[in-house]
Amino acid sequence: MICLEPLARRQRASGRPAVARGRARLARAMLADCRLCAHECGVNRLAGERGLCHAGADAGIFSAQVEVSDELELIPTFAIALSGCDLRCDFCITGRESWNPRAGERVQPALLAARAEAALAAGARTVMILGGEPTIHLPTALEIVAGLPDGAKLVWKTNAHGSAQARALLDGLFEVWLADFKFGNDACARRLAGTPDYVGVVRENLLWADGHSELIVRHLLMPGHLDCCWKPVAGWLAENLPRVKVNLRAGFWPAWRAARHPELRGTVTARETARALEIAEGLGLNLIA
Ligand code: SF4
Repeated sequence: MICLEPLARRQRASGRPAVARGRARLARAMLADCRLCAHECGVNRLAGERGLCHAGADAGIFSAQVEVSDELELIPTFAIALSGCDLRCDFCITGRESWNPRAGERVQPALLAARAEAALAAGARTVMILGGEPTIHLPTALEIVAGLPDGAKLVWKTNAHGSAQARALLDGLFEVWLADFKFGNDACARRLAGTPDYVGVVRENLLWADGHSELIVRHLLMPGHLDCCWKPVAGWLAENLPRVKVNLRAGFWPAWRAARHPELRGTVTARETARALEIAEGLGLNLIA
């Protein structure tokens, strides 16, 4: 376990680039025994070994552009998407890029910083780092942060499956964590995303994120998964993070390998959406768009 001095919130704006640069070096050294996500593979990525995400030491980006499809309070955002992910969601909307950590162009932090600065000057409200899953490329993500304009509002968009080690490296650097809570039980997570022990890891990450930054939790409604996934997610949020902002998304699309699962071959029905909203309202969740 590493020990990092927490960065006080009031110091974020002035000290962030230097802190991120130092942590990026630390994160890169940690690739020698990679435990950045909760899979904790322990492989030496610097020596060419590969863990479950198949990522090496270098990252690619498959998209870097201004986007307007995220939460209203975050958009327009300059979104930087790193290739590769540690989960294997069969319904992933960016499956090809998310499953291939070598997809896209090689990251050039200085160029990205210049583009982010131009986007902010043109009216973007935030800079978002996402994937795939950015945690698996933490050294590169931190190198990008080190080059971003000081004082920019940064968003860490994550599957909330990172390790304690990753959280320590991220502490204090992002104003907002935008985190997925996809599955309400481990059986669905194992079957649809090839991930054991999902629920406990995500809960741990959400509780941590809520104590260290602003947190927005996303749940993508999946057809046929209202009772097994949304209901337990909503219930846990109501009990443990009652004031947290929750974005319930009903725009499921049967992308990538979704057709392998009969219930995921269509979209969410209007009736399912209405019932999901009833559940959220009944529990008093703080829903946002
Ligand atoms: S990022 Fe996660 S899945 Fe990838 S090698 Fe490291 S511990 Fe394994």
